[in-house]
Amino acid sequence: MDVPYFVEVDEARRIASDALANLTPCEVEHVALGAAHGRILATDLRSLVDDPPFDNSAMDGFAVRASDVPTIPATLPVQSTVAAAAHEDQAPLQPGHAVRIMTGAPMPSGADAILPIERCDVGEDEVTLNAPVRTGFVRKQGENLQKGTVGLSAGAYLTPAKVGLCATMGHPDVPVVKRLNVAVIPTGDELRPAGEPLRHGEVYESNSHGLVGLVRAMGHEATHHPAVEDTLDGLRAALDAAAESSDMIVTSGGVSMGEWDLVRRLMEEEGDLRYWRVKIRPGSPPLFGLWKGTPLFGLPGNPVSSHVVFRLLVADAIRAWTGAHGPRETTVRARLLDPVKSTKDCLTLRRVTVALVDGEMVARQPRHQGSGNLESLASADALTLLPPGASGEAGEIIDVLLL
Ligand code: AMP
Ligand code: MG
Repeated sequence: MDVPYFVEVDEARRIASDALANLTPCEVEHVALGAAHGRILATDLRSLVDDPPFDNSAMDGFAVRASDVPTIPATLPVQSTVAAAAHEDQAPLQPGHAVRIMTGAPMPSGADAILPIERCDVGEDEVTLNAPVRTGFVRKQGENLQKGTVGLSAGAYLTPAKVGLCATMGHPDVPVVKRLNVAVIPTGDELRPAGEPLRHGEVYESNSHGLVGLVRAMGHEATHHPAVEDTLDGLRAALDAAAESSDMIVTSGGVSMGEWDLVRRLMEEEGDLRYWRVKIRPGSPPLFGLWKGTPLFGLPGNPVSSHVVFRLLVADAIRAWTGAHGPRETTVRARLLDPVKSTKDCLTLRRVTVALVDGEMVARQPRHQGSGNLESLASADALTLLPPGASGEAGEIIDVLLL
């Protein structure tokens, strides 16, 4: 077999992203801001306005000319009040006067300082300033973003703060990458949907629920398929239908060496297989290829494996294909408090909890680490990124990928 076999993670990522780069590029659509959360920005977005659009007060207080108040306390007549939505043209600040001003209200011309209200005694028509006046508490026009500058780059994952920034920049809608439709297909004769009684030898099908959630969390659509039985004909029919109706197929189960590992057999015999097996543990059996022109990731059946392989390989491929910079993968350094078993030739992903203890990030491995133990993943905060051959001894400082 001349298909790359048991490849490094980087090599697997490169093979998949090269294959995806040869497919039709993702389409772009415009969505209103109300629907933009979690989407991927398709082009750079420039600000249509200065932010802020005008010089304004950062505090509730009094606008003055600093040079009018060389010493304190000083009492000045209050010329007028300016509220946040002051539209009409304001009179300039008269020499020796103060203007009562609210947060966000435009600075009267001639004023260069704000004294916060809590540092003043407010009288009937006058105010006594009790603290030295410095030029400050003024938010200058364009100090955050100038009109025409790029506030968000293509590929940005639109978090709530970024959606807010789109509005600040004056965009009512934004160009985003059209959502991919990812078919999630679990395979295995032994799988039953939760809610049905289990017969001896059966387990509840869980992988698809995790995988659908992972796809959606990346801003894409997942189609949740029922489990397919382990027959070549049944599997072929399910893949054909998914290739027709989706942009990418993610299967779980059936990619190991066994006789019943039919996803692998079908991809080898009838598909366009690009790699099989990757140097990660857990999760070494995955494959990637094209089925009737549609990219297909065959993930392992073990519940922990299917999840971590998605995080390491499928998420990376989706980001590469869509040009996305997020959702961000966050890696931190943590000191191991428990020894963690590494492997000779694989990147080892153990499930750990992390916490800040005395200013230091520490990682514990409280659970039995079988790749079938989904509870060990559900209760974990992070995955170790132990390079092949690392010692994994207690006390070592290692990289962990936050879940
Ligand atoms: P396989 O990769 O098909 O040999 O499956 C490996 C292990 O994962 C077996 O114990 C399966 O029962 C289990 N498994 C496979 N698919 C799923 C699934 N969708 N949900 C839960 N467990 C699964
Ligand atoms: Mg199976």
